Amino acid sequence: MIIIMEPSATKEQIEKVENRLEELGCKTHPIYGEVKTVIGVIGDKRHLDNDQLMMYPGVENIVPIMKPYKLASKEIQEKSIVKVGDVKIGGDELVVMAGPCAVEDKDDFFVTAHKVKDAGAKILRGGAFKPRTSPYSFQGLQEEGLKMLDTARKETGLKIVTEVIDTRDVETVAKYSDVLQIGARNMQNFRLLQEAGMTEKPVLLKRGLAATIEEWLMAAEYVMSEGNSDIILCERGIRTFETETRNTMDISAILVARELSHLPVVADPSHASGSWKYVSGLSKAAVAAGADGLIIEVHNDPATAMCDGTQSLKPDKFANLMESLKPIAEAVDRNI
Ligand code: PEP
Ligand code: MN
Repeated sequence: MIIIMEPSATKEQIEKVENRLEELGCKTHPIYGEVKTVIGVIGDKRHLDNDQLMMYPGVENIVPIMKPYKLASKEIQEKSIVKVGDVKIGGDELVVMAGPCAVEDKDDFFVTAHKVKDAGAKILRGGAFKPRTSPYSFQGLQEEGLKMLDTARKETGLKIVTEVIDTRDVETVAKYSDVLQIGARNMQNFRLLQEAGMTEKPVLLKRGLAATIEEWLMAAEYVMSEGNSDIILCERGIRTFETETRNTMDISAILVARELSHLPVVADPSHASGSWKYVSGLSKAAVAAGADGLIIEVHNDPATAMCDGTQSLKPDKFANLMESLKPIAEAVDRNI
C-alpha cells in the first residue's frame, strides 16, 4: 500500500509514520515528490490498522497497490529518473550506451570507447564477466577487464555499465562500474537481484529470454525491495518460433512497461536481432515507441571480436545511426 502524506507534512511527521510502520514489521520506501511525499509500504500488513495510521498527523490517504509488483508499479509514482552521475535516464534526453560485447585485451577496446564517445554515447558498455552458453567459450577478462573499463572511463569521461553474473562478484563489479548490468539469463537469479539491491549502484535489468513483462517487473521488485530504486529496464528480445533473428524484439514491451511501471525502459537492438544489419532499424523503432535509451554493441573490428561480432556495428555505422536518430527523437520530444 501507499501512504500519501499531505503537501504540508513535515519531515518529523513522515519519520513518525515510517517508524510506526517499521515497528509493525513493514519496510518503508519514501518517495519525496515535488508536491508531496508518498511512503511505499511492503511486508506483512496483517498487523496494520489503517484507521489508526490515518490518525497520524500529516497523513492524507492510504491506498492499496493492486499489482503484485509494488515498488515498481506506476501506482506509486508517475515516472522515475535514474541518475548515473550527471547522466539522467528517463528524462527528456535519450541516453545511448554503446561499446563491445566483451572487454578485450586489445587497443581496439580503447579506440571503440573514444569513437562511441565522439558519436554521442554517454555510457560505455563492455562485459568483463560473460555469461556464455558454452563453458569453452571466452568467459571475459574478469577483474582485468574491469580495470580496463576504469581506464576507459578516466580517458573518455564516459560512465560504465558492465554485467555481474554472480553474487560473489557484486562488490568487485560495483567498485569499478557506474551501472550494474543483470543479464537476461540471470533475470530470475533472485539472490543476485537482492545482492544488487543492497548496493548503491543503478541496475540495468535485462528482460529474461522467456520472461513475461510481469516476471520482469517482479525481478525489478526484488532489487527495489532491498532499498535500491535505481532500476533501468532493458528489453533485449525474447525467444519466439522465429529463427531468422537471434531473438524477437518485443517493441510492445517498451510501451507496456512504461504503462505499468515508472521505471525507465531502454532497448537493446543488438541482442534482439543478432545481426548488425537490423540494429539501425530496430533502434529507430524503439525510440519511436518511447524508449528512454538504447544499449548498442559497437566494435572497432567486428570480424575479430571475441563475442557477438556479427551483431556489432562498426564505429562509423554507429555514428551514422546516432545522426539518423535525431529527427525520430525530436518527433517524440526527446533530445539526443
Ligand atoms: C550482453 O549484453 O552482452 C548480454 C549478454 O546480454 P543479454 O543478457 O541480454 O543476453
Ligand atoms: Mn553481447
